[in-house]
This record gives sequence, structure tokens and C-alpha cells, in this order.
Amino acid sequence: MIIDNYNRIHNYLRISLTDNCNLRCFYCMPEEDYVFTPASRLMQADEIEALGKTFVDLGVNKIRLTGGEPLVRKDAADIILRLAKLKVNLTLTTNATRLHEFADALKEANVHSLNISLDTLQSDKFTLITRRDQFKLVYDNIQMMVKNNFHVKVNMVVMKGLNENEIIDFVEWTKYEPVHVRFIEFMPFTGNKWTSNKVFTWQQMLKVIEEKYSFIPLENDKHDTAKAYTVPGHAGTFAIISTMSAPFCSGCNRMRLTADGKLKNCLFSKEETDLLSAFRRGEDVTPLIHQSIRSKAKELGGQFTTDFEHLHAEDINNRSMITIGG
Ligand code: SAM
Ligand code: SF4
Repeated sequence: MIIDNYNRIHNYLRISLTDNCNLRCFYCMPEEDYVFTPASRLMQADEIEALGKTFVDLGVNKIRLTGGEPLVRKDAADIILRLAKLKVNLTLTTNATRLHEFADALKEANVHSLNISLDTLQSDKFTLITRRDQFKLVYDNIQMMVKNNFHVKVNMVVMKGLNENEIIDFVEWTKYEPVHVRFIEFMPFTGNKWTSNKVFTWQQMLKVIEEKYSFIPLENDKHDTAKAYTVPGHAGTFAIISTMSAPFCSGCNRMRLTADGKLKNCLFSKEETDLLSAFRRGEDVTPLIHQSIRSKAKELGGQFTTDFEHLHAEDINNRSMITIGG
């Protein structure tokens, strides 16, 4: 069992397959000419499988693959099928641009639930945010996965002045389609142009939604990062991930393995533990995993508090989101 100094059992691992991506979301990837990590420095498929198994032997029962865009990796299907053999709930966060090529592999791997990012329902705005003209492909692929009975959660990063005026359109989407929209408060990472006045908070979102709909809260699991709601009669649900205004660190069970094999005990942790180098030297990585999790801060990587109005993104010592894996 992997347990930290605050008695939080860690049984959920997010593995980033790559820091490469075919979109360029400005809040995630700092510059257009960002240089991706060369393939030789990334964990190889057999290394991901072996490290994944070590975590499973230590009690991990859920693995989420992420990135960058996990599905741009040439051996993504192979990795998914290798991890599917471990006794875990396997899932994926994706930008949906390649899902039409992967639907069969995902079914074969028993992946039933997907988190898909989409910050706008307007094609022009999609191009502005992602710097790529791919709205139709993404939207069509989401619909295709819903029709194929995948449980689809749609992640929308809400940024004040950019897309908060679409919150209602996203809730309306849940009326006829079983999509589960998750509104995410904008978070600060190295180089992502975050300023506190662009955060649209949980309470502000609820205020917008209650002007149009009556909704009821759904029961949460203690590990949930999202506070979920449903509008009675709607096929889908909506939820809010309030990392900035009301973090959920007390129930945290998550660890992150970056594509270059570093273990981060928190999304906002400064420290990283190099598991891949130790693994390549033939060392047992188990003590390193325990050490890393025991040093986990109580809240927000020990780097800031919910008083985010006075926070400057550059005060946080971290990587950019694309190199961490969300
Ligand atoms: N490429 C995949 C995708 O877009 O879903 C997976 C990787 S992406 C880094 C994972 C999630 O992190 C996405 O849902 C994305 O919207 C979210 N994300 C990235 N930067 C963020 C930020 N600054 N604040 C909040 N969420 C962010
Ligand atoms: Fe790529 Fe996902 Fe980051 Fe957008 S949010 S740049 S799709 S990794």
C-alpha cells in the first residue's frame, strides 16, 4: 500500500505517454515552437508496463493515460493493450483528434470511460484556443464515442473573458446526450499566461447555471475531484473541478508519472523522483515510490493556498502542464 504522512492511500496513477501533442492549447503548451522530449528519453512501452505493474503490486487499482496527447504516440495501442492485462481500471484523457483510429483498441482493452477536452462549442474559438482548426473532427469523434456507449466526460477549462459565456451551452448539451461535462477552474503552470483575474470560480459558475436551470447535487466519492450535479430530466450531468477556489486535497489518492519517468506526488509539486533512471540501472524503484509519497505536501504541492487572488504564476516552481500530464 502506498500511503502518505496524512494517511491518504494512493491507489490512482496517471501515466503521461508523451509531452508531444497535435494541438497547441495556449493554457497548456506555452509556445508554438516548444521542443518535444526526444523519444529515447521517454519511457518505452516495456518500461511503462513494468513500472505500471510495480504500482499495481503496491495497491494501485486505477491508471489513467494522459500527456501531451497520449494517442499521438505511435505505440499507443500497444501500451494500452499491455496495461489492459494488469488488474486495473484503465482509462484515458485525450483531445479526441485520433479517437476514430483507436475506438477498437480501446474496446479490446476494456476501456469504458474517457475524459475528452473541449473548451468551446464554437469552431473559431476552438482554433483560437488550440491554434489548430480541428473543431469538427473533435466534436464528431466525441459524438461517435457516445454512440459507441463509452462514458464520456468532457473537460472544459473555463477562462474569464474567453468562454464562460458558453457554460449554459455546455449544460444544454447534457439535455439530450449522455455527456458528463466538467467545468475546470483555470490553473497556473509555467508559461501559461495565467492571471488570477482569468479564474472563473465554482461559485461564479453555479450562479450562471442557476439563472437558467434547477439542478441537484449528486453524491460524491471522497476521492472525487469534481462536484457533480444533474438537471432533472437531462441525459447527462455536469460537474465543477474547483482546484483554485476549493481544492480537494484531503481526499487525494493520485500520483503522476511523467513521460520521462519522473514521479510527481502532486500536480503542483516542486520535487520529482526519477524512477526511470533507477529502473534503467536495474534498481528496485519501490523504496523511491514510498519516499516520494511520504514527502507529499498536505495541500497544493505546498506552493499556494486558496487565496489565489494574490498569486503570480511565476511564483510556482513547476513544469508546464503539457510536460506533467493532466
Ligand atoms: N491531450 C489530452 C487532453 O487535452 O485531454 C490530455 C492532456 S491535457 C494536459 C489533460 C487535461 O488538462 C485537459 O483536460 C486540459 O484541459 C487540462 N488542462 C491543461 N492545462 C490546464 C490549465 N492550465 N488549467 C486547467 N486545466 C488544464
Ligand atoms: Fe494538447 Fe491536451 Fe495540452 Fe491541448 S490540453 S495542448 S490537447 S495536451
